[in-house]
Amino acid sequence: MQSLYRVSETGERILNSEVAHIHARREGGPRWNAAMSREENRGFGNLILLCKPHASEVDDTPQHFPAELLREWKRA
Ligand SMILES: [Zn+2]
Repeated sequence: MQSLYRVSETGERILNSEVAHIHARREGGPRWNAAMSREENRGFGNLILLCKPHASEVDDTPQHFPAELLREWKRA
């Protein structure tokens, strides 16, 4: 994990994080869970705050980042 903010070369604090979905919001997306309701999918329980590099990585290579691992990160 990188920090959720970073400091630019000119000294400004820049947001370095985004809210990601544990189970994809679209059918067929990363870790898609057909059993989940639309409300659950949009709810806090399905969201995780990640640094930007990890937010991309977990969706680009979801085979390495199962939902249970993301939930462990969230608990931590
Ligand atoms: Zn990270």
